Amino acid sequence: MFRIDKMKAKSSVDRTASSGHITKITNSNKALPLKLLDNKVGNLGNRAFRSNPLKQTTQGKIPETARRKRSIEPKVPIKQWCLKDFEIGKPLGKGNFGQAFLAREKASGFIVALKMLYKEELVMSNIENQLKREINIQSQLKHPNILRLYGFFHDADRIFLILEFAAKGELFAELQKHKRFSEAEAAKYVAQMVNALTYLHGKRVIHRDIKPENLMLGLNGELKIGDFGWSVKTGVSDNRRSTLCGTLDYLPPEMVEGRVHDKNVDLWSLGILLYELICGSPPFESEGNEDLTYSRILGIDIHIPSYVSKDAADLITKLLKYSANDRLSLKEVMHHPFMKKHIHL
Ligand code: ATP
Ligand code: MG
Repeated sequence: MFRIDKMKAKSSVDRTASSGHITKITNSNKALPLKLLDNKVGNLGNRAFRSNPLKQTTQGKIPETARRKRSIEPKVPIKQWCLKDFEIGKPLGKGNFGQAFLAREKASGFIVALKMLYKEELVMSNIENQLKREINIQSQLKHPNILRLYGFFHDADRIFLILEFAAKGELFAELQKHKRFSEAEAAKYVAQMVNALTYLHGKRVIHRDIKPENLMLGLNGELKIGDFGWSVKTGVSDNRRSTLCGTLDYLPPEMVEGRVHDKNVDLWSLGILLYELICGSPPFESEGNEDLTYSRILGIDIHIPSYVSKDAADLITKLLKYSANDRLSLKEVMHHPFMKKHIHL
């Protein structure tokens, strides 16, 4: 089944760099029937990019008369981005479905990351809708701890996402380099996660795939949630979902059991993240034995090493609760003694 395959790919391929990348390139010039390429989505992204302050300064101010004209004449042409608008720089890396490059928008000199995805691979893997959802959600999010998606464009074979450039790369790579973080550093990342999740949940967006591979770092080491492939916007009346997705090691019991779930799944994942940042690996990891990981998650079979402080262990266990409603809230996380010790507001 696709979802399970994708989940397995996420849990195993992500941790072994780019080995899962498909390199086949289509020679066909015929555009593939990707429904996500409607103007509505594209325009959303363009508007977001146009509000980029650097770009505005180079464009100069709009004269008063022109502004008035715009308000009575709504058919203002919105700039459609294309590859020629960018100078392409060094490759940043390969993912499961594409490749990312450093790039500079020629008119403004603004530095971005361009993520290139092959339409044929998206169609073959049946993830066009997932990408559409990712674009729809991420392009509407503006927060210092969330990676900006400025817009997208496409040619016959490829889709390009214009993303904020995260100069220090993935938190996962940083964690591998250091093996594990000090509790003070882990608290700093958790505090930034709480900020981002408070913003997301306020917009009824559940991320559902929090893990160090999906967290990027800005120039000053600031955390930025990227990769909204599994995120979902819940309805006004029903803010619960029952789709099984996300990454195995980070899945909460309600998703393992295929029950309905809500924003509290992100609090479970925050507990797993805190554990992984302090201990170097997630608590229920079982060396490729997925059934064992499942049963350890359901039994909350967790071993906290003795070098972990009492406060950190307490916060981890108060987030890793079987019953979603028993988990600490984002507010309570910030008031927990572990966070108070390290984060001075
Ligand atoms: P997936 O296909 O599941 O998204 P992925 O995240 O590994 O997997 P990409 O998002 O295509 O794949 O990114 C490939 C690599 O490029 C990443 O590992 C990361 O190091 C780098 N990268 C991607 N986006 C950015 C960005 N906005 N800023 C800096 N580096 C990036
Ligand atoms: Mg990614």
